[in-house]
Amino acid sequence: MKRPFQWIDRATLWEIYTTLLILPVGFVLYRLYADMGLAAVYYVGIPFAFISAMMMLYYKSRQLNSYLQKTSEIGHELTGRLKESEVMDLFISRLVKLLPIDFTYIYDVIDQEKIKMSRFYKVQQQQNIPQFFLEKGESISGAVLQQRKALQYHRRDQWKKQNQEGIPEEGESLISLPVFRNDEIVSVITVVSKEKRAFEKFQYMIVDILSNYLVIAMENAKNYEETKNQSERCPLTNLYNYRYFEEQLEQTFQIQQNINRPLSLILLDIDHFKSVNDTYGHQSGNEVICTLADWLVEMIGGEGVVARYGGEEFVIMLPDYSVEESFQLADKVRRKIASKKIILQEHMLGDKEESLVLTASIGVASYPEHCEQPLELVRHADRAMYMGAKQKGRNKVAVYQSNKALAE
Ligand code: GH3
Ligand code: MG
Ligand code: MG
Repeated sequence: MKRPFQWIDRATLWEIYTTLLILPVGFVLYRLYADMGLAAVYYVGIPFAFISAMMMLYYKSRQLNSYLQKTSEIGHELTGRLKESEVMDLFISRLVKLLPIDFTYIYDVIDQEKIKMSRFYKVQQQQNIPQFFLEKGESISGAVLQQRKALQYHRRDQWKKQNQEGIPEEGESLISLPVFRNDEIVSVITVVSKEKRAFEKFQYMIVDILSNYLVIAMENAKNYEETKNQSERCPLTNLYNYRYFEEQLEQTFQIQQNINRPLSLILLDIDHFKSVNDTYGHQSGNEVICTLADWLVEMIGGEGVVARYGGEEFVIMLPDYSVEESFQLADKVRRKIASKKIILQEHMLGDKEESLVLTASIGVASYPEHCEQPLELVRHADRAMYMGAKQKGRNKVAVYQSNKALAE
C-alpha cells in the first residue's frame, strides 16, 4: 500500500503493557480461586475488570487527543494557504495520512438541488473526471444532500446497491458527509477505504472538523485571489493596471539585465479618440477601448504583458524582444488596428449599427539600447510615440532615438 509501516507502534506497545499486567493478575486470580472459590472473583476479578476498562478509556482518550491535535494543526495549515488548489491538495494529502482513505470524492452543491463532482482522488492522486451530477437523494452523496446528515457504512454490502457514482468495487468502509456554511450545504465529501470497519466514530468527527476547516480555507483563498485580481486589473478592460505593470516591469528588467537579454516596451495611444466620445458617446468610447484591449491581448498572446497605461493608452512589455523585433510587432499591431472595423451596437446616433475604423500611434523603446533603468523604457517609448508618431501625422510606429532625431 506504500504506506509507512512500523513494527512496534503505539497500539502494539499498549498490547505489551496490558499483557504484562494481565498475566500476573490472571495467575493470582487462578491461585486464589483454587483457595477461596468464587470470593476470589470479588477480590481480584471485578477490581481488575474495572482497572482494564479505565485503562482502555485512558488509551482511547490519548488516541483522540493526538488525533485532535493533528486535526487542529492541519486546520491552521489549511487556513494559512492562499490558493484554492493548494488548499485542496493539502487537505487531501493530510487526510489520507491521518486516516486509511483510498478514494475521496468532493462534490459542489448547486442550488441545494444537485451536486456536481468537482474532484476525485485515488489516495493522494487527483484523477480526471467527466462532468458528473447527482440529483438530491440520488446515490449515497445525493442522499446526504437530501437528509442533511452524514452517512457512515462499515462494509460494501451496506451501500453497494445505492452506489450510482462509480465508487470502485474494492471500497468497503465509507463516510459521506455534508459541509455546512451558514446553515446551507456547500459541499458533500465522500471518503472510502478498502478496509472493512476502517473508520471509528471519532474518525468520522475528524473528517467533519477538517471539512469545515476546508470550506473556510477555500473561501479565504477565493477572497484573497479575487482581491488580488481586483488590485492588479483595470475593471473596464480586465487588462493589468499600470501599477501592476510597473512592478512586473521592474522585476523583468532585473532578470533580463542579469541574463543579458533584451527587453522592449511598446506604448500605444489611439488617434483622435476624443472624437469617438464626441460622436458616439462616452459609453461607446469605453466599448472601443475594450475591443482594442481584446485585440492586443489576442495579438501579443504569451509573448509579453499588456496593460492599460491610462485612458486610451496601452503598454506592452516584451521580454527577449530586440529593437527590430519589437518594431516589427508594433507595426503589425498598427496595421491590424487600421484595417479592422469596430462595430458599435449601441451609441448616441440612433438604433442603427455603426462601424468605425481607428488608427493608433505607437512608440517603441528597448533595453539595452535606449535605457539603463526600467522606467526609462516607459518614458522613452512615450516620447517616441509623441515626437515620432503623433507629431509626424499619426498611424505610425516610432523607435526612440536619443539624439532627438526620431526614426519612423
Ligand atoms: P490624439 O491622441 O490623436 O492626439 O487625440 P486624442 O483625442 O486621442 O487625444 P488624447 O489622447 O490626448 O485624449 C484622449 C481622450 O480619451 C480624452 C478622453 O476624452 C478620452 N478618454 C480617456 N479615458 C477614457 C475612458 O476611459 N473612456 C472613454 N470613453 N474615453 C476616455
Ligand atoms: Mg491619450
Ligand atoms: Mg489619443
